[in-house]
Amino acid sequence: MELQFLGTGAGMPSKMRNTSAVILNLSAEGEGYWLFDCGEATQHQLLHTPLKPRKIAKIFITHLHGDHIFGLPGLLGSRSFLGGNERLEIYGPSGLKEWLETTLRITTTHLNYELLIQEVGEGIIVEDDKFKVIAKNLQHGIPCLGYRIEQKPLPGKLLIDKVNEAGVPKGPLLKELKDGSDVTLPDGRLIFSKDVTGEPQEGFTVTILGDTSYCNAAVELALDADLLVHEATFDMDTDNLAKEYGHSTIGDAARTASEAGAKKLIANHISARFMPSDVAKLKEQGEAIFPTLHIAEDFSRFVWIDGQVKNLNAEKPS
Ligand SMILES: [Zn+2]
Ligand SMILES: [Zn+2]
Repeated sequence: MELQFLGTGAGMPSKMRNTSAVILNLSAEGEGYWLFDCGEATQHQLLHTPLKPRKIAKIFITHLHGDHIFGLPGLLGSRSFLGGNERLEIYGPSGLKEWLETTLRITTTHLNYELLIQEVGEGIIVEDDKFKVIAKNLQHGIPCLGYRIEQKPLPGKLLIDKVNEAGVPKGPLLKELKDGSDVTLPDGRLIFSKDVTGEPQEGFTVTILGDTSYCNAAVELALDADLLVHEATFDMDTDNLAKEYGHSTIGDAARTASEAGAKKLIANHISARFMPSDVAKLKEQGEAIFPTLHIAEDFSRFVWIDGQVKNLNAEKPS
C-alpha cells in the first residue's frame, strides 16, 4: 500500500498546493489505484508522477464542492484516451451521478470503458475478499463522506520446514496451501493448510476523510486506524473561522486522531493563507495534541512497510 498526495490545498489551487486528490495505490494488493477526490487539474498532477490513469480502478468522492470534483470529467476522458478500457467504479454522495453524466453527455465525452457511478450513504459500500470500505457522514454544510478502508487479514506465511516435513512437492499445491486451501498429495495424504502456515497477518486500516468540523463520525471512522488523512484548513488561532465554514483546525485533526487511537495522522486541505514558512507552526500546534503527525505536501508519499507507515519525502515534479 502506498499513499500519494496529488493535491493538498483548500478551496482553490495555489502555486504550492493543488486542490484535493490522493491516490491509494493498491497495486501490490492486486486492486490497482483508488483515487480519493479529484480536484481540478488532478490529471496534470498525475503527469508529474509515474502513476498511470488507466490503472485507476475506483474513485471515491467525499463531497460535491468544486475543489474535490472539478478534475473528474477531464481525468475520465484522458483515462479513455490513454488506453484505459477496464471498468471504473465511482462512489460518492447523491448528485454526483447527475452532474457527471450531464457533463459527459453535453461535452460528448466518449469513454472506452464501463463507468459505474454509485451514489452512496453510510455503511459498507465496497467489500471483496481483500478489502472493506465503510462510509459515514461528516459535518460540512453539504453532504460529505469519510471513508475507512480495511484490508482483511492476510493468510499466514508458508512454513517451509513444515511443508518439507510433510513431503509436499514444489508447485501449485504449495500455493493452494498458502492461500488457505487443504490439499491431497499424489500419494493420497491430506494436508491441512493450518498445519503448514503461520498465524494470519493483520491487514492495514486507512481512513480518508472529506472536509469536516470535528465530529464523532470522524473519530469512529478512524478508530485504531494505521493512518488517518484529515483536513486541517485552519490553525488554532483561526478556530472561529473553522467552525463558521464547517472545517477543522490542525487541533481538531489532532484531537480526532488522538481520540480514535490512530497510529499516524496526515493533515491535508491546508489553506493558502499558510505560507510554507507557517507550516512548522501548524505542525507544532498539532503535535502538542498528537505527536505522530505529518503535514502533507503535494506529491508526498507514504508507504506501508513491515506493518508500519513510512514517509517518503515529497519529490517535487521535474
Ligand atoms: Zn474542500
Ligand atoms: Zn468542502
